[in-house]
Amino acid sequence: MADCGDMWDDLDDDLLLGIDAGGSSTGELCEKELNDDTLGDGDSKKRKTGTEGCELTATQSEKKRSDQRSPLERYRGGYLWVTDLCKQIWCEQQMFYHLTMPRVIVEESPIVTVGQNLHLARELAVQDVVKIAVKTSEDIFAVKVLNLLGAVKGFLSGVPVRREILIFGSPFGQDIFIMGLIDEIRCDPETFELEILEFKTRSTKSLPSKAQKNAHNLQVMLYKRLFDDLVQGKLTKELIAKNMRLDLSVKFSTDIQKEVNGGGLECKDLDGLMQALFDTMQCMTCIGGILIEYCYQGDQSTIGLEQVEYSEIWFKSIFDDFCDYWKGKREICGVDIEDAWKCQRCAFAEVCDWRKKRAEECASKNKKTK
Ligand code: SF4
Repeated sequence: MADCGDMWDDLDDDLLLGIDAGGSSTGELCEKELNDDTLGDGDSKKRKTGTEGCELTATQSEKKRSDQRSPLERYRGGYLWVTDLCKQIWCEQQMFYHLTMPRVIVEESPIVTVGQNLHLARELAVQDVVKIAVKTSEDIFAVKVLNLLGAVKGFLSGVPVRREILIFGSPFGQDIFIMGLIDEIRCDPETFELEILEFKTRSTKSLPSKAQKNAHNLQVMLYKRLFDDLVQGKLTKELIAKNMRLDLSVKFSTDIQKEVNGGGLECKDLDGLMQALFDTMQCMTCIGGILIEYCYQGDQSTIGLEQVEYSEIWFKSIFDDFCDYWKGKREICGVDIEDAWKCQRCAFAEVCDWRKKRAEECASKNKKTK
């Protein structure tokens, strides 16, 4: 059986929430709530769920029926994080429960803490973390743009590696805005060839299961696609403004303006800053390679370094299907019968509608065949 405890060992995009602490959009709060369960999926002993949660969910279901908004609007405030999609590929129903169940108390997992510390140590090994005060939503997004712009400018001036790089976009014309945080990008200073390296820490000294790897592969393919779309000029300012509900002409607050000027830029709003990002990104090449490094938390040794083959057919079909859910075009799904083993260690197993429905279907089939 796969070790679900390692499923969400890495916070990845979630670390970004530290930057967003000054903002309070619904999406950010939801992501925080989701993070509270980041590593708890496989450890139901640490989660307090039960009838109370179930009753509240039923009440929420009633409200949901009269709410015409899409799941994207209702649960994520209009945009997604890459981790949402990684959780969705594990079990969409479980992801939904994470978003809609009343807040549950989860003890702090040592696995999360170790994973966080290892990520932070790697980041600090190559760059400083700068705290910037933000006042508006536009300021918050400007921090994201500055992070990416700083990384790309670094590559162009010969910096070989950057870590914790923000990325965003709207792949495959789906009109769903997605943000993520890439662990590491390496750049060959001679050829400017780029490579993504995703760092996964594990509490056991073994490689993940196929199901876990699928989630990891989806994650890194999404990163590549988001980055490449920017290099190829496929993202527009208007799309960002619409999806993130930003006013591109709002002037930056003082601290952000100082950062912008410190980076040698003249712009005073997101319109100018985004243009600077687009112009710089288009000087780069697309991502050439994707690697995932699995590291054992115990002694920090590398368990495996795996090369991921980018498969647009596989990735796009999953992505399109996920978008259908977020846009409200289809009902939610739980795991297929061959993945029913996931339910055995799922914290929501006792209250899961999908599981109940499947059990009833099986019982009625068995009756007919008797
Ligand atoms: S019990 Fe199974 S189907 Fe239901 S949420 Fe958990 S993993 Fe998904």
